[in-house]
Amino acid sequence: MGKNILDNLSLKLGRRNFLKLASVGAGIGATSLFASNDKVREATEEEVKNPFPGSKKVKTICSVCSAGCGIIAEVQNGVWIRQDVAQEHPISQGSHCCKGIDQIDLVKSKQRVKYPLKKVAGKWQRISWETAINEISEKMLKLRKESGPDVAMFLGSAKFNLQQAFYFRKFAAMWGTNNIDHVARI
Ligand code: SF4
Repeated sequence: MGKNILDNLSLKLGRRNFLKLASVGAGIGATSLFASNDKVREATEEEVKNPFPGSKKVKTICSVCSAGCGIIAEVQNGVWIRQDVAQEHPISQGSHCCKGIDQIDLVKSKQRVKYPLKKVAGKWQRISWETAINEISEKMLKLRKESGPDVAMFLGSAKFNLQQAFYFRKFAAMWGTNNIDHVARI
């Protein structure tokens, strides 16, 4: 079978340059595909200025550590859709760390775990809350019986609010240990 026009072009240009040309061609092809698709259109000037009409800006704080840096959360129809730094905040004064910048991902991230998972034979399986609580508590009680209450260390979460921290502390005391700390030990 004879060589087609692309084979001939490839021979003349050399493989590397041919591939470069091919990728430019693919880009142009993809762009024309979008341009000709009536489901995709250019954003209007109004949409560029305000992509979330009717949204509200709410002053809040990052909950990752006790510094409590300021965040402006933009909310549309009850859903957190965008965040910005709070320039006027008395503590963070218009900045925050990399964890605070991603604070919105605690709500929006596709990787967020929303139910208990158990690793079975190397694979994560979804289990019910009841199963998770029963299995974990059975294991904890077994360990406590075998090795005493100091077998456990309770490490709190910076996500705990005041009331949750109170119950967490009570839980460790009832368990019978002073091995308890807060995760944000700064
Ligand atoms: S985690 Fe970072 S952004 Fe959040 S409160 Fe602490 S220092 Fe501020």
